[in-house]
Amino acid sequence: MKMRALVAGELLAAAPGTGLPVEDPSTGLVIGEVPDLGIDVLDHAVAAAARAQPGWAADHASRRSVLRRVADVLESHAEELGALVCAETGKSALGGRMEAVKAAEHLRWMADVDLPHEQLVDDDTRTVLLEHRPIGVVAAILPWNAPLIMAAHKAGAALRTGNTLVLKPSPHTPLATLRLAELVADIVPAGVLNVVTGRDHLGPAMTGHPQVGMVAFTGSVRTGRAIMVNAAASLKRLTLELGGNDAAIVLADADPSVVGAQLFRSAFMNSGQVCQAIKRLYVAREVYDAVVAELVKAAEAARLGGPTEDGATFGPLTTAEQLAVVAELVEDARARGGQIRTGGAPADRAGHFYPPTVVTGLEDTARLVAEEQFGPALPVLVFDDVAEAVERANSTEFGLSASVWTSDPVHGAEVAEQLVAGSVWVNRHAGVEPHIPFGGMRQSGIGRESGLTGLLAYTETRTIEIPRS
Ligand code: NAD
Repeated sequence: MKMRALVAGELLAAAPGTGLPVEDPSTGLVIGEVPDLGIDVLDHAVAAAARAQPGWAADHASRRSVLRRVADVLESHAEELGALVCAETGKSALGGRMEAVKAAEHLRWMADVDLPHEQLVDDDTRTVLLEHRPIGVVAAILPWNAPLIMAAHKAGAALRTGNTLVLKPSPHTPLATLRLAELVADIVPAGVLNVVTGRDHLGPAMTGHPQVGMVAFTGSVRTGRAIMVNAAASLKRLTLELGGNDAAIVLADADPSVVGAQLFRSAFMNSGQVCQAIKRLYVAREVYDAVVAELVKAAEAARLGGPTEDGATFGPLTTAEQLAVVAELVEDARARGGQIRTGGAPADRAGHFYPPTVVTGLEDTARLVAEEQFGPALPVLVFDDVAEAVERANSTEFGLSASVWTSDPVHGAEVAEQLVAGSVWVNRHAGVEPHIPFGGMRQSGIGRESGLTGLLAYTETRTIEIPRS
């Protein structure tokens, strides 16, 4: 399939022989081609966005109605868009469709919410108002693990607040986003939404572009740092949703037969390629063996396979590079004396498959514990004292999310209170909702997405003073 980019209201196809190939991770075969755009086209997109921005900012009614119409398209084309997400990411059919549905839900919330306007002073002499104004042109740069949801988060907030947008999906997963752009090309005014594709060189050109006022990024810490440096020259506004190394703490009173399956899902959903997945599991000694047994049982019940394979429950890694990262971290764990309870080697089949892997017996300094694996290999660590578990959970440069598992939610909340992370749950882990801000502390990011906090990140604060006479 050949997809087109959306630039200044026009759909642009790749010139023959110049397209960027897109792979199906469950087979390794090329399934699509998208334009490999150069900097000249990016400049054209940014200029179109800059021209369209004042009119868009002034059109308050369209800023709501257009988002609602895009949400309608996402819902009416959920099967088609979901199938594209599955084809390019390798996630299950349900997971692909859910992306379209969740993206629509997010846009509707953004369309309905009111931006706050405060009156700071109102006396005999003057009125002082506080307003939230658009920044201008936003450059949004996306990762490969949840293409449609990420696109909706950034497009919803940017467009609702009166900005215009140049959005770049990951070169690994551009298909569903480009198809959505094609479907809404006649709904969104020309220049307001531009979707560009190309190799990684487009990213720095966007984040250093003089006409871009804000960069909204989701991806790795390494790229986040590079963006901050590049954006510094013109002091661009930034939101950075970066990596994590989420800890979950299972207290001694948790019932392994109840929490085991939930812990497995929270660590291995989308084959571990979720920023908020459990990436280190600390378990009280009293229930340690039983929790490990439940995890191994769930892992061994998983059936590897692509989104269209009958009976498959566990998809591939989306990229060959991520498969290599996971394999390397597990080999390092093995070399340090870690016990591989299940899994432990890439699957012997086409595609980027790695089975769910549970590793015990590691020190916290092992790379599989200390680094972000972003894949299906979970270190399970034992603790004797809750204070010690909290300290070990917090001993990281990351701070995205964390959780506590217990049969006593009140005690769980006391432990949760001590965890340094942007989102903390008791008896649950992960989940993004339109009205709840999420994002990371420390090196997991800057700023928040979703909720009013996330929306206001796309605005500048302005005060206006008006004399009484
Ligand atoms: P990545 O940083 O390699 O790439 C992300 C995007 O940045 C891609 O579109 C890429 O083309 C672009 N890019 C690459 N180099 C760039 C540069 N120098 N300047 C600007 N853009 C550049 O990340 P990835 O491998 O696609 O995604 C996986 C990572 O994303 C993981 O670390 C994961 O934790 C993180 N992630 C975070 C969240 C969150 O919300 N916190 C959500 C999903 C994924």
